[in-house]
Amino acid sequence: MEALIIVDMLNDFVRKDAPLYVPGAENTIPAIKREIERADKQGIPVIYVCDAHDPDDEEFSIWPAHCVRGTEGAQVVDELKPKKHHIIIEKTRYSGFFRTNLEETLRNLNVDTVRLVGVATNICVLYTAADAFMRGFRILVVSDGVEGLTPEDKEWALKQMKNLFLAEVV
Ligand code: ZN
Repeated sequence: MEALIIVDMLNDFVRKDAPLYVPGAENTIPAIKREIERADKQGIPVIYVCDAHDPDDEEFSIWPAHCVRGTEGAQVVDELKPKKHHIIIEKTRYSGFFRTNLEETLRNLNVDTVRLVGVATNICVLYTAADAFMRGFRILVVSDGVEGLTPEDKEWALKQMKNLFLAEVV
């Protein structure tokens, strides 16, 4: 079984005036919509992995404050609003697996393959892919459904995922 994992498609990363705008993130929305429709049609679980920080999170010594739990910035962008049967998992670090029940959720759904979309290719998508690989999941990355901090970052991260985690870029 495959699962579609949507990483950090949240206002604070995707809106142009956001504190941690990933340039071009909005261009992934049509591809991610397509992936959600495909997953829903095929009965594939859709899992949103979402940054949700405390107001004084240690991560804010590296990055400007973003995605504080309960704020508008921490919400999934309107265009990709989760449906009732979709799963939302909050995280506080780059990897969707770190201190979350993502692994347990995937195992319970008999998932062996994760299909990744979202932002940023070279940060949260990359580290989620790393942790998925180390837990034995097969990895697919949808190239038009991910965006990096820069085009070079995206290219570098896709190469890392291919070479280190045997990810298939689709
Ligand atoms: Zn964060």
